[in-house]
Parts: sequence; C-alpha cells; structure tokens
Amino acid sequence: MTSQPPITSHSNQTIKAVKRLRMRKAREEEGTFVIEGVRHLFDAVEAGWVLRIVLFEPSDLARPKTAELIEKCRASGATCLEVSRDVMAGVAKRDNPETVIAVAEQRLYELDALDVSADKLSIVLEEIRDPGNLGTIARTADAVGAYNIVLVGSTCDPFSPEAVRASMGSFARIRFTRASLEDFQIWRAGWSGQVVGAHLEGAVDYRQANTSGPLILAMGTEQAGLSDTLSRTCDELVRIPMVDGVDSLNLAISTGVLLYQIRANSGYF
Ligand code: SAM
Repeated sequence: MTSQPPITSHSNQTIKAVKRLRMRKAREEEGTFVIEGVRHLFDAVEAGWVLRIVLFEPSDLARPKTAELIEKCRASGATCLEVSRDVMAGVAKRDNPETVIAVAEQRLYELDALDVSADKLSIVLEEIRDPGNLGTIARTADAVGAYNIVLVGSTCDPFSPEAVRASMGSFARIRFTRASLEDFQIWRAGWSGQVVGAHLEGAVDYRQANTSGPLILAMGTEQAGLSDTLSRTCDELVRIPMVDGVDSLNLAISTGVLLYQIRANSGYF
C-alpha cells in the first residue's frame, strides 16, 4: 500500500533524478536507465532486471495489468510511487505519456561471459551511432533468438530512451556486452567459431555464406562501414546484392536480412 500522497511537483527530488536520466552522462554515473510502459516493464521484470523506482498514476491501478505489475514491482523490492498525470507527462516528455515509468539498473556482460555455444547466434555492432537502429536490431535479434549483442568501440547507448523504446521490450532479453576493438580482437583469436562480416565489398553472396556452427555476425558502422581491422577478424565477408547506383542498405535492415538468412540456412524456423 502507498502511504504517501501522489507526487504533484515537478521539482520533487526523485522526479528530477528520473528526468536527469535522459542524459547519457547521468545514466553512466548512476548505472541506471528508464523503462516506459506496462508491457515493457513486464518484459523487464520477467527477465530479472532490477527496478529501483516505479512511477505510476493512482487511477491506473483500476487496470488489472497495471495493478499486477505494480504488485510484482513492490514484491521485487522496487520503490513504487504514485504521481499526478501532469508529473507523469513531464517525466515521459510526451503528449501521450506511458502510465508506468521505472528506473532500472543497467546490466552489461563481460566479453569472457559471452555464451557462444553451438545454437547461439551473436551480433557484433561496430561503432553503431543511431539508437533507433540499435533498438530495431535488438528487436530483430530477439525475434530470431540471437541474444548476444556486442557493442564494439565507441557506440550509442543501449540504455537510451530511444534505443529502449525502439526495441519494443526486446532489450530485456538481450545480453549486451561492450568491448574495445582490441579486446574483441584478442577474444576472437581465442575462439574457434565463425565470424561472418557484412561488407559492401564482401566476396561472398550472403545466401552462399558458411553459417554452420557457433556464429557471430559482424556489422559495420552507419557511416564508414566495417573497419579493416574488424574485417580481418572475419572468416568470410558477405554482401547483400543491390541494384546499380544504390549506396547501401540501412544497418538495421541489413542485419535483419542476414539474421533471417542465417536462421533459414540452419532450418531454425
Ligand atoms: N558507406 C558505408 C560502407 O561503406 O559500408 C555504408 C554503411 S551501411 C549503412 C552499415 C552497415 O550495414 C555496413 O557496414 C554493413 O555491415 C551493412 N550493410 C549495408 N548494406 C549492405 C550490403 N548490401 N551488403 C552487406 N552489408 C551491408
């Protein structure tokens, strides 16, 4: 039960702290991020993410799903606070705000903890810049059961509101790892599985690639593509054909095409 009245002030310390998490610097300092929406929060709770603070509008407890979520959050030890609609709109920064917003602890995995056993498909994203692309890739990876995403080099933040939102809850099931290019090279040298790189000048048509066994798909950055260094760690560089005059496919789209081809090759679906 909540004993306090709903928070109605935008200058409440907790509200200000949650709004601060819009900034990457604040997220990195605190090691937390914001998850919006009942459905995405269920995904997070089910996947064991630790929620610290949960904001909700009291009138929404009339919705069974919201009431169930708040109950689960309380049981997990999160501080659940009632807020006014106006405050909720300020936190969500949208006209049609989500009715439950939570602060969760970030979860990142070490490269050495990467589970790359036979049925696992992993993705390496080099210097990805666009959080919308990252969220879309997480959503697609989740759809094909590829739960490891390794962010190589300096990348956008997987815990930004844009990336989390674009993933449509899939971020909760993805194991994100961050690594420098050098560390990835060292790790790769000690791993016997296949790394397939997506490259505009790849020698192999993506439908002919050898994708059997434990596999990592390496994707290049939006601007410059796959670096020569990362390309050299790949067993094969594959290309998706395009008609003359087209520069390239969008990063998230090409990742989706390749993930589905890899799964089709192995009869996964
Ligand atoms: N100008 C960049 C380049 O030279 O690679 C374009 C980068 S593209 C927007 C981002 C990434 O998507 C590429 O690095 C590659 O990994 C993948 N990609 C896009 N189109 C592709 C294609 N037709 N074949 C293979 N990979 C592709």
